[in-house]
Amino acid sequence: MDVIVIGGGIGGIATAYQLRAAGHRVCVVERHATVAQGATYGHGGAVLPSPLDVWFGPTFMQTRRAAKTGIVFKPGFNSETRDFAKKLAQFHDPHRFATQYGALRPLVDISRDVIAEIEAEFPLDFEQRTGVLHVFRHERDLELADSAIKLLQSFETPHRILSAQECIAAEPSIPDDPPLAGGVLLPDARTANCPLFTKLLKQVLEDDGVQFRLGREVTAIRADAQRAAVELAPLNGAVDGKGGRSREVELIAADAVVVAAGTGTPALLATLGISLPLHPLSLHTLTAPIAYEERAPHLTIVDSVKRIAMTRINQRMRVTGGAVLQSAAKASKPMSESLTHRALALLGQATHDWIPGAAKVSAARAWSGVRLMSPDGLPVVSATSHARLFVNTAHGPAGWGIACGAAKVIAALISHTEPDVPERTLRALRIDRF
Ligand SMILES: Cc1cc2nc3c(=O)[nH]c(=O)nc-3n(C[C@H](O)[C@H](O)[C@H](O)COP(=O)(O)OP(=O)(O)OC[C@H]3O[C@@H](n4cnc5c(N)ncnc54)[C@H](O)[C@@H]3O)c2cc1C
Repeated sequence: MDVIVIGGGIGGIATAYQLRAAGHRVCVVERHATVAQGATYGHGGAVLPSPLDVWFGPTFMQTRRAAKTGIVFKPGFNSETRDFAKKLAQFHDPHRFATQYGALRPLVDISRDVIAEIEAEFPLDFEQRTGVLHVFRHERDLELADSAIKLLQSFETPHRILSAQECIAAEPSIPDDPPLAGGVLLPDARTANCPLFTKLLKQVLEDDGVQFRLGREVTAIRADAQRAAVELAPLNGAVDGKGGRSREVELIAADAVVVAAGTGTPALLATLGISLPLHPLSLHTLTAPIAYEERAPHLTIVDSVKRIAMTRINQRMRVTGGAVLQSAAKASKPMSESLTHRALALLGQATHDWIPGAAKVSAARAWSGVRLMSPDGLPVVSATSHARLFVNTAHGPAGWGIACGAAKVIAALISHTEPDVPERTLRALRIDRF
């Protein structure tokens, strides 16, 4: 089949990879001049999510104070944003959280296998490291994380619960003052450079005949029972017969279209009358040179409650988090200086508290991006009411690993083969579940 994939982030590239592996002819359309320029660019390094760092669950926004949760909650008078936060709060309940994470888990498992297969087949160096230490400042934080820690046990995820002293012994860059309550070490959890992985995989795909239409924006999707097609905006600088700016829309047709366009997804689906209750969440990244080698952590440190990850990537520290939850309209505009400042201050403070002296924060490069989250914490990986349209989106702020497994499910749906995940998981990811 001919398949068009809209979006050149990890979601789209992973989808193209699985579609090509299943024998389809694939064309990826991306509005930027190259791939990995959306949320994928700001990626914090975690390859697969664990119950300790998914962005819903018992510890997520238990209070509304950014200093405690790492999330600046600025709904203003926007009732949609408040409702969205309320829906996510349902998963503070440990049983609901366990059920939801249980549905997600098979996707995480296939993702692990997919990434391992890619690494076995192609010798790709994308700055992989191993070992993640989740740290907790207060006893209460550890108690709140108890149901997530139990899920690590029930899914047989290798982990060790560490006392404060054991945390410092495992990662000497953590200071003993101020005191911490303890931590959870995931010795096999991996971190790496997601934008680099995405670019390397794009190269593999190009060599294998996948077509890339870069610098082209999809403005609308058309789908009927026989064919699907996407409309591309005129190229910048294109001229018409009279020398004026061309308004000619290019149409490319295919047997199926996959929308993996990150935050661009809702607008594209709207052209077919499909609406989704997804909400944007802004996130920040600081990338700073290592200041003192002897103070730089060899493990990735995650402040589990504030959801701030501090990952070493070669000679740089990448610090990510500083989430801002505000209305969709505000999230689509440049963030105000004061909000950016608050979010970045959270990252700077976490670096100072957990790995002082490791990174030259004054020389850090700041970046911010937007991720879509669903009100039940799970992505949308699904066929749609249009037989030729598929959606792979809303992987949330832990999207690398999920995207790779989700891609395999989408490829199976398009190829009419049995997806390798239980029916319960497929139902939980469907577009019509909301
Ligand atoms: C700061 C930050 C830190 C993160 N940290 C982690 C982490 O540690 N671990 C983890 O697993 N995940 C992390 N995530 C989440 C992860 O990066 C995302 O889930 C993932 O990158 C999403 O990939 P995507 O392909 O769905 O979206 P994107 O990367 O946003 O890609 C979508 C692409 O579609 C293109 N597009 C959109 N509309 C159109 C259109 N109309 N026409 C053509 N092209 C279009 C965009 O230009 C973009 O390139 C983080 C996210 C952020 C922002």
